[in-house]
Amino acid sequence: MATEKNTIAVSSKVAVVRCDTYEERSVEAAVFRAVELLGGLESILSSGEKALSRESRIIMKPNLLAKTSPDKACTTHPAVFKAVGSLLRKNGYNNLKYGDSPGNPMIKVEKVAEECGIKEAADAMDIPLGNFESGIQVDFPKGRAADRFILCDEVVKADGIINICKMKTHQLERITGAVKNTFGCVYGINKGASHARFATAEVFAKMIADLNNLVKPKLHIMDGIVAMEGNGPQSGTPKAMNVIMVSQDPVALDAVFCYLVDLKPELVPTNVSGMEQGVGSWQNLNIISENGQMTIEEAVKEYGDRSFNVQRSTEYRGMLKPIRFLRPLLEKKPVVKTERCIGCGICVNACPVEGKAIYVKKAKKGKPAAVYNYDRCIKCYCCQEMCPEEAITVKKSLLARIMDRNWKV
Ligand code: SF4
Ligand code: SF4
Repeated sequence: MATEKNTIAVSSKVAVVRCDTYEERSVEAAVFRAVELLGGLESILSSGEKALSRESRIIMKPNLLAKTSPDKACTTHPAVFKAVGSLLRKNGYNNLKYGDSPGNPMIKVEKVAEECGIKEAADAMDIPLGNFESGIQVDFPKGRAADRFILCDEVVKADGIINICKMKTHQLERITGAVKNTFGCVYGINKGASHARFATAEVFAKMIADLNNLVKPKLHIMDGIVAMEGNGPQSGTPKAMNVIMVSQDPVALDAVFCYLVDLKPELVPTNVSGMEQGVGSWQNLNIISENGQMTIEEAVKEYGDRSFNVQRSTEYRGMLKPIRFLRPLLEKKPVVKTERCIGCGICVNACPVEGKAIYVKKAKKGKPAAVYNYDRCIKCYCCQEMCPEEAITVKKSLLARIMDRNWKV
């Protein structure tokens, strides 16, 4: 596993390749091309800190948040996973395993991988599932927010990680891309506790930046062919963005994601902490596409979609501090759509607050449904993230919605 040394990311180069289908050969061509534009796999993996050889133990880490089918756009699409596996194999990297720590620690990783189509893709390439069902404590004294992590067994044993993330929205951090995807390296039952310990978006982002500095994936490959907008990271709406993006710098990669969806990178806490803590940078982006080097404006024109539904308001960056009386008018909170709720209690299990801020109320008539205790709620949105029925949404005030510019006219 990577050392805890705090160094600036190796490159702010981001390769963007158009791909508008999950047809396997097209995806493979796009992934291969993007990595080639970045400098080629061998050159990327064998250079810099924690260089990897053909014998190195490599973990392919897709996003396996929940048991959902690939067309929901919640998890990394198997075609992208397969293309990355094929790229590694063709370049002689054969000591491969895959895995992730799903949001619900009560569900086996293998079951989630099966439903998401990743297991079938991995089995077809003879890539075994790593051990993500147990954890080992790793100290990180240099961490700004966290001085230790309980990492999944396989992450600790690995020489390097290939981060195969998904382009999605996130209620706490606005987006979940490359930087946030490393949270799946943390052993399952400790993830909920992290939300309680690092309760605000900013502090949570600092912890995620520490984690990136600890595990340091060698390469980040983003599945943005069909992204997720709106009520992400599990209950949002699939949205075609038609891109595969690749970088060694997760902050730069997430910043390009932001630009493409008309979101300022500085509004994303994981970008801000990522830059402050030396994970990467979006200051000197070097965007390279099939048509050569591009400016941000050219990339946005070519690949962007400003109708993408994402939180764009400034509320969490402290920009409204001087006018505090406006803050209640910008409030947002999770709410249950009772007509969709089946009373399964997964949200209750996901809630990291001691004594719980959500419970399932048995009705005298009709079906049980989840109910909030907003006095306890820390607005971490773990419940919303884990609800399998898309029954939890985020209610925003009128002003917050105007500021998010999500109005469709
Ligand atoms: S809100 Fe969702 S997770 Fe919670 S009980 Fe209802 S269906 Fe289950
Ligand atoms: S109720 Fe939901 S948003 Fe509130 S603290 Fe619990 S998990 Fe977080």
